[in-house]
Amino acid sequence: MLATTMPSPATIWIEEGCIQCGWCENLEPVVFQITASGCEIRTSARRDGGSGPNRAERSTLRPDALDGPATTFLRFIADGCPVQVIRFTGISDDALVG
Ligand code: SF4
Repeated sequence: MLATTMPSPATIWIEEGCIQCGWCENLEPVVFQITASGCEIRTSARRDGGSGPNRAERSTLRPDALDGPATTFLRFIADGCPVQVIRFTGISDDALVG
């Protein structure tokens, strides 16, 4: 009997310690936004319509926030954060589930 698993919805948040280097926003401004207080997940990309780093809320991303090719880029962006504060769940190697 085959077991099936449903992928969890994609969620991105920013932990404490962002140094506002601009790397993530420069590469994916649809999702990341630098503000005076640090990096945030854009309201337009969040399913809950909230603002801020999404650290407490852990809102999933809107399914229409990114196209397919862009989703594969998020892992690269997180890996390139100089202080490793970009965290995510629900992003597979080749797809993001909205
Ligand atoms: S890449 Fe990391 S340190 Fe740079 S702005 Fe984004 S979250 Fe902050």
